[in-house]
This record gives sequence, C-alpha cells and structure tokens, in this order.
Amino acid sequence: MADVALDGPPRAHNSDTGLTLFRDKAYIDGSWCCAGTGLVVAVTDPATGRLIGTVPDMGSIETRRAVAGANRAQKLWARWTAFERGACLRRWGDLLRTHREELARLMTLEQGKPVAEARAEIDYAASFLNWFGEQGERHDGEMITSHLRGRKMFAFRAPIGVAAAITPWNFPSAMITRKAGAALAAGCAMVVRPASETPFSALALAVLAEKSGIPPGVFSVITGSAKPIANALMEDTVVRHLSFTGSTEVGRLLAAQGAKTVKKIAMELGGHAPLIICEDVDLDEAVSAAVAAKFQTSGQDCLAANRIFVAQTLYTSFCSRYAEAVRALKVGNGFGDGVEIGPLINLSAVATCDAQVADALAQGGRLLVGGTSGVPGPLFYSPTVLADVTPDMKIFREETFGPVAAVLPFASDAQVVDLANDTEFGLAAYLYGRDVGRLWRMGECLEYGMIAFNTVKMTGPPVPFGGVKQSGLGREGSRHGIDEYSEIKYFCVNGL
Ligand code: NAP
Repeated sequence: MADVALDGPPRAHNSDTGLTLFRDKAYIDGSWCCAGTGLVVAVTDPATGRLIGTVPDMGSIETRRAVAGANRAQKLWARWTAFERGACLRRWGDLLRTHREELARLMTLEQGKPVAEARAEIDYAASFLNWFGEQGERHDGEMITSHLRGRKMFAFRAPIGVAAAITPWNFPSAMITRKAGAALAAGCAMVVRPASETPFSALALAVLAEKSGIPPGVFSVITGSAKPIANALMEDTVVRHLSFTGSTEVGRLLAAQGAKTVKKIAMELGGHAPLIICEDVDLDEAVSAAVAAKFQTSGQDCLAANRIFVAQTLYTSFCSRYAEAVRALKVGNGFGDGVEIGPLINLSAVATCDAQVADALAQGGRLLVGGTSGVPGPLFYSPTVLADVTPDMKIFREETFGPVAAVLPFASDAQVVDLANDTEFGLAAYLYGRDVGRLWRMGECLEYGMIAFNTVKMTGPPVPFGGVKQSGLGREGSRHGIDEYSEIKYFCVNGL
C-alpha cells in the first residue's frame, strides 16, 4: 500500500502491464483466488505514483485455508525423495532465469529499483533455488556409536512441517526464494505473505513455482494487510516455523507472538553497518567501495554501509572525493538509462531521511552533497553525504534506510571498534586496509554476524547470512539455512 497520491489518471489496471507473469489474485493451495470479502489492496509505482494494480485483501479465513492446504501438501511432499524435490527447485530456478527480464521489469515497476539491480536480484533469487535444490540431496543424518549394548542409534533431520514467511519490499524476490528454497528442499511447505508494496513479484514467483511442478499447497502466496494474516499464522499451531525479514521493531512483536505456540523462529532484521577505512588504503578503491556499499538499492538495504569511519589522516581527502562521486550518481525512474538511484518506497521513508539529515545538521554535521527531496518526484531523495557525524545524532543511532551516508573520522583501532559496536544492530560490517592481520584483529572484536574484508560483495547461497544482537536470529543460505527448516529426530532401535 504505497502512500503516494496518483499523479495522473490511473491506467486501466490489472491488465495493461503487458507482463505475462502479472497476476492480481493470491495463490492458495494451488488455486488463484480473491478475498472472500472482495476487498483489494492497491499497489502503485513509486517512481510515478501511478496505480499498477490491486491484490486481494485477505484475512484470517484465507490464511487458515492456506495453512490447512500446506499441511496436507507437506505430508506428501516430505515423502518425495530429496532428489525429486531438488529437481523441482532447480526447474523453478531455471524458470526465473528464463523470465529474468520480465521479472526484473515487474520488480522495478512496483519496487522502483534500477532495472539493472532488479536483473541482478533475479539472478540472486534463482541461485538460492538451484543451490538449495542440490543441498537438500546432501542433508544427511548420522549413525551414532552406541553406548547401549544391542541398540543401533540414528539421528537424522526431519522436516519441521508447515513454515510461514513474512517478507519485505526491498528485495521482493530474493527474500522469498532464500527462505522457500531452503524450506522446500528440507521437505516443508511454505505460506508466504509478501510486503504490501511488492506483492506482484511474489505472485510471479508463484506462477513459475506452479510451472516447475511444485505440487499445489507446497508454496502459497497470500496477500493483504499484515496484521490479520500474521496473527492467523502466529496463532495456528500447524505453523511450526516463522521466517521473517524486516524491521527489528516488527521482529520483536512476532517473536513474542510466536512464543505462545513455541514456534521455531528465524529473523533477518535491521542493520546499521559500519565501513571502516584505514589510512593505508588506495583512496580510489575506498571511495568506490563506499559508494557501492552505501547506495545500492538506493540505500534501502539492510547491508548498507550507513556509518563510514575514515582514518583521521585520510578524512579530508576522502570526504571531498566521496562527495564528488556521490554527486555524480544518476537519479531517476528505475527504467531510465544509466539510472543508479531510484525512488524510495513511500513518503514515510522520505520523511525519515529528512529528519535524520535535519537532526545531524542541527547538531553540527556538515552537508557535503544532497539533502533535498521531491525531485524528480515526491518519493525521490537526492544522494546525500553528511560529514562530522557524532554518536549523539539520530543518523548514528537509527537505521538509515535511504541514500544518506554518514561519515566520521577515527583516531585509533580501539576507538573505531568501540564506535562501530555502539549500536543495537549487528548484521554486517566492512573493513578496508592493506594490513590484513590488523583487519583480522579488528574483525574479531566487531560484534557483527558478517564481515567483509576489502570487498563489498559477500552474499550468495553458500554463505550463512544473518546478524547478531538485535539484527536477528538464525541464518539463511548455506547448509545452516536448510537446518532451520528441520528438526533432529533420534531413533534408538533394539534388535537390529
Ligand atoms: P517492516 O515494516 O518490518 O515490514 C516487513 C514485513 O512485515 C512486511 O511484509 C510488512 O507488511 C510486515 N509487517 C509490518 N507490520 C507488521 C505487523 N505488525 N505484524 C506482522 N507483519 C508486519 O520492514 P520494511 O520496512 O518492509 O523493511 C525494511 C526492514 O527490513 C529494514 O529494517 C531492513 O534492515 C530489514 N531487512 C533485513 C534484511 C536482512 O536480511 N537482515 C533484509 C532486507 C530487509 P507491510 O508491507 O504490509 O507493512
């Protein structure tokens, strides 16, 4: 539900996107359906404010139906061999690649990110389906050396059952496949409730899941207002697992709700990543790393390097070169040629950027570039660099979910590690410098789940993605990601 006004006559929606994977119904238990009430939720293009279409506003009745269907389907799906499930998942991943362009255009339409970034997300999303399809085939148990005479002992991983996923709008495809790939490979069924702003990417994934031969009920997508659907999922004892990606605030609420039915919970929550730049770096490399680490997805990224700590001796030259590079970023509609920064998702995201910048300036921060909103449309915020940020400022404390970079100097390794750790978040951190031993020692003291040394890119299917402190619980991706969807079952057999 975007909160932008329409800036022109709405198009005859739900039919004229020209995209064959566009669906305006939810996909529940293998059927495409509307809400029992007939109510719908409008979805708009954040770049133009135009209506893209509507999706059903479903509630607790439809959610319970989706869970019941998932429960029936899961029992059969779990009996398929891991190789059969893997073949389906790989077909699903291949279909994403075949339809890459269309999926990317749909994503840019509803999410706003530059279409080149949307294409990269589709590749990323597909990679989880292929990788987990294979990993499921290696999800082995173990035979235990017995301490009891005559008994044989085995421990193996049994699927947890029905899993639910609540996903955000910033990575509308990859945040679904990273969960569903692992869940389905483990033999679970999954009910996904995508973000209100980006349901069409999720529904397009369901079209391709159906085509790939995934049986009805194993993967469902339910659309509508968050609370009634989330409440029904959390109250249902059949739902044994919740995987949530979103803000720490909502994560806390869901964790409390899940406690009532003792659900297993995995959470990928907010981040407020530090990027530490030591004095011995190559300045060009450091500047381009700081642009890439901060401004991808227009800064609406849980991994974004929100707090950039620069060695005192390099600070002045870094600030001027960084401001120059950020000024050159091209802002516009994600479909425009060479556009690097698209719109933010809604007006409240723009207001948060404005408030963080105003607060920093009132407390002595220096605006090096940017700091304006509204051009070329109400949801755009100009790429911004604030220097001389201090720990008292909002921008140091609150997650920044927009194209605003905060830069501050540091004098010693001990000081910068303390500053970097001075937050409730602990998702990702970046370190740049020539002395790898020094970086390693800093890395050991940084309270973060993922740390990149002299690189910005670090994610992908084989690695454990996740945070510490209030950035989350559990890991996605890697062999640990599939373990989340299974429980260890122990057999002790006499007389074998
Ligand atoms: P959000 O407001 O927490 O929303 C995430 C999802 O939760 C959406 O589907 C949302 O639905 C739903 N939701 C909202 N209120 C709810 C409630 N009371 N009960 C149940 N569900 C509810 O977060 P966001 O603004 O969409 O996403 C940005 C956040 O996600 C940032 O903090 C970012 O760091 C985090 N994130 C983390 C990762 C990671 O892997 N760690 C990855 C991406 C994003 P509606 O759309 O209807 O509001």
